[in-house]
Order: sequence, then C-alpha cells, then structure tokens
Amino acid sequence: MTTAGTVDLVILGGGSGGYAAALRASELGMTVVMIEKDKVGGTCLHRGCIPTKALLHSAETVEAVKDAAHFGVNATFQSVDVAAVNTYKNKVVEGLYKGLTGLVKSRSIEVVQGTGKVVSPTAVEVDGRTIEAKHVLLATGSVPRSLPGLEIDGTRVITSDQALDLDHVPASAIVLGAGAIGCEFASVWNAFGSEVTIVEALAHLVPLEEESSSKLLERAFRKKGIKQELSARFQSVTPTATGVQVTLEGGKTLDAEVLLVAIGRGPVSEGLGYEQVGVEVERGFVKVDAYCQTSVPTISAVGDLIPTLQLAHVGFAEGILVAERLAGLPVTPVDYDGVPRITYSHPEVASVGITSKQATERGYDVIEATYDLAGNGRAKILNTAGAVKVVAQKDGPVLGVHMVGERVGDLIAEAQLIINWEALPAEVAQLIHPHPTMSEAVGEAHMVLAGKPLHAHS
Ligand SMILES: Cc1cc2nc3c(=O)[nH]c(=O)nc-3n(C[C@H](O)[C@H](O)[C@H](O)COP(=O)(O)OP(=O)(O)OC[C@H]3O[C@@H](n4cnc5c(N)ncnc54)[C@H](O)[C@@H]3O)c2cc1C
Repeated sequence: MTTAGTVDLVILGGGSGGYAAALRASELGMTVVMIEKDKVGGTCLHRGCIPTKALLHSAETVEAVKDAAHFGVNATFQSVDVAAVNTYKNKVVEGLYKGLTGLVKSRSIEVVQGTGKVVSPTAVEVDGRTIEAKHVLLATGSVPRSLPGLEIDGTRVITSDQALDLDHVPASAIVLGAGAIGCEFASVWNAFGSEVTIVEALAHLVPLEEESSSKLLERAFRKKGIKQELSARFQSVTPTATGVQVTLEGGKTLDAEVLLVAIGRGPVSEGLGYEQVGVEVERGFVKVDAYCQTSVPTISAVGDLIPTLQLAHVGFAEGILVAERLAGLPVTPVDYDGVPRITYSHPEVASVGITSKQATERGYDVIEATYDLAGNGRAKILNTAGAVKVVAQKDGPVLGVHMVGERVGDLIAEAQLIINWEALPAEVAQLIHPHPTMSEAVGEAHMVLAGKPLHAHS
C-alpha cells in the first residue's frame, strides 16, 4: 500500500527529537507522518529523564525525612514502599504521555504504529506501506550499550531500562559508569538503603565535568557512604548465589545483588536502510552537517542518533531546527557548548559552557573564581554543600559556569543566559540577585571575577 500523495515530512522515531520536529513542522503548515514502534515520547518520557527524576524525588523525600532532626523536626523514617514509588513514577509518566499524545493529535500529525525502514531518499516503509515524502527525518534514538563479554541478563546484570522497574530495593548494587545515569541511580539506591559502589574507568565521577565539580561530588558521595572505584576497569562478571561478583582489572573483586551497566548509549541505526540509501554512518552514528542534514540532501537526522550531546533538550532543539530549515525559515546551528547539562544526583551537578581545561586548550587567557556555598545563606538553611565556579576569558566574557549543590540545576537557566549572551563578569556582577537564594552564589562568583567580592574573602 502506498500513501495517497506525497507528504512534506516523514519521521522515523517519535522520541524527543522526532516529535519536536513533528510539532514544529505541522505548526509551520507541513503535512507530517511520524512512525513509532513503541510509544511517542521515546526514551526521555518512558525510560529516561522523567521516570528517573521521579525516583530521585522519592529519594530526596527519604533524605528529607532522615535529616528531619537537623531541622528540629521529629520524624522517623520507616521504609520505602517500592510498589507505591513505582505507581507514583508511572502516574507522572502516564499523565505526560496523555498530554503529549493529545498535543500531537491536535496538530494533525499522523502517527503510524510500527517499525519503519528507509527505502529511498524520499520514502519510508512500515508494515508493507510505503510513505513517500519530500523529506525524511531519522530520529531513531539510542539504546543502552554494553561491553564485549558483558551480557545484560535483565535481572542481575541490568541497564537503566530494568533499573527503573525493579520491584524492590537491591540490598547492594555496583554501578558501572559514573556519568549522569550512573550517578543518578547511585543516589536513588543509596537514599533507599542500598550499599552502592560506583566503578569508573576514568579518574573521576562525572568525568566530562569541570574537575572541581567532580571532586565535590566525590566528597559528597563519600559522606553518604557511596563507595567509589575510580580509574578502575571492569574485567568480568560472574553470577553468585546472591547476585554477581565483578572482577576489576588487577584482580580486585566486588560482590553485589545487581550490576547496573551505565557506560553509555549507542545509536539505533542498524538494519534500517540508512546506508543502503547513501546516508553516511560512522560507528553507528548518522553523520550530519551543522544543520542536521545527512549526506543525502532529502534526509536529516537528529537526537541521540547523531554524534552530539545525548540530551532531550538537544533533541528538541535539533528537531525544531530541521523543521524550520525545511520550511524555509532562516536557522542558526546549535551551539553545543552553550547547552546546559545537569546530573540530577544528590547533590546535583550543573554546567554550561566550557571547562577551564578546554578554555586553556582553546588558547584563552583564563581567569576563574569559585564561590563556596558555605557562604550562601540559603544553602546553609538547606544544609547543602557545594560551589559555583565561573571560568572567563581575561578581559572578556564568561566561558563556563560549573555548579554543585542541591537544586543547582535550577540555577543553570541564568548561567545559560550569561554564557549564550557572552556576558562579561562585570555585567553579571551588576545584576541584583534576590536574598536569600542560591542564585546569589552565581552573582557572588561573578563579583569576585569583577574584582568586587562581597561575601567572599579577596
Ligand atoms: C536513564 C536515562 C535518564 C536520562 N535523563 C535525562 C535527563 O534528565 N535530561 C535529558 O536531557 N536527557 C536525559 N536522558 C537522555 C534522553 O532521554 C535522550 O537524549 C532523548 O530521549 C533522545 O531523544 P531521541 O528522540 O533522539 O531518541 P529516543 O528518545 O530514544 O527516541 C527514539 C524513538 O524511536 C523509536 N524507534 C527506533 N527505531 C524505530 C524504527 N525503526 N521505527 C519506528 N520507531 C523507531 C523508538 O521506539 C523511540 O521511541 C536520559 C536517558 C536515560 C536512558
């Protein structure tokens, strides 16, 4: 069967990247068909951003009850009802899913349920039906990666997909990989009472962040009792009577009930006809130019499928960019340095812009200032530790903002404006931050760089 006529855009994959493109394209008057083999919303809504943050909020609630005495409140922590936590988490996801499907429907986007395949530069096939389109968008996303010889069995050796649906709190867990996903699950399970050990091949937790942020997170995790094996390489895993035994290179062994493999996510591009129609693919990732166009002019690609930051808001931005370009609007490439990044662990790690190491490598004359949250009234009230570090070019704009502390993710919106509008430290120092808020720490760090520290030792 062939769809009558040619649509403007056919999209393969209804995750963050795909559905953002669909919504914007239809808004711009294009006819859109979106093919999704599972559920519109993709990884972020069903297996990623949203359910993990719900679990992290339950974890935060546990910590608030356990810390209640610090604030003069008598409360006793009893237990975590995992079934009830899952009900809460699933309700959040379901509510958003309902809203999203309603929105997609309201924009007259045709959603086709099924597994699609590209069959020509202007056609996609799904369940025997060929959909012809002026443009094709590849947005098939990513799935958890593993290592050679490390088999995911779904019960003892798991990925984030299974970790989200555990029906109990594991007594102990080894988390392989200290990126955002690994650190977030380490926080959840630690708060819920598991013995957690993180194994990371590189020298630090959240290794892509500013080193001082990694060190602050490492200190906070140590205080919480989360063990860390850094610069430690996984060698093998074997089943035991109660779970798994992991052997690290060098021979050290670790025992736990579960092993969470959180070493990254790989693109979904195999067997989907991409290379057959001429789309260039490298290590599974679809290659694109700065406008998300592939080597085939009628085919674009966005999201986790392309080698850019694997974040939902990056997928949204790329999807919108493609829709606007196809509609003939003027578009600007995404500035990936200017994308805010948050690890929602406890405490949170947030950053935007480049690290001081990257700034030096790029030849900037770098100046930096760190404002310790110990001097911030709101942080003291909340009993959280951490810091805001600002990296700037000498006599030039701010290049990077790096933060650690409870809820610092909420501060990244301001930092994003500072970076993307290329503000000078002195200009930010001039802005008035409300007292007492954590945002004052952002202001204070810039005041230090502007040579007019207030609540900081000069
Ligand atoms: C545990 C976890 C936590 C995360 N937390 C965050 C966070 O807090 N913030 C953040 O910004 N990002 C987070 N992410 C990352 C975020 O989820 C991804 O960056 C985002 O979902 C990528 O969107 P996408 O559209 O490229 O791919 P996906 O969301 O993976 O969507 C791709 C879609 O394509 C469909 N598909 C694949 N092949 C076919 C086919 N052949 N035919 C039809 N359909 C197909 C899939 O079913 C899927 O729905 C997290 C990810 C994980 C795993």
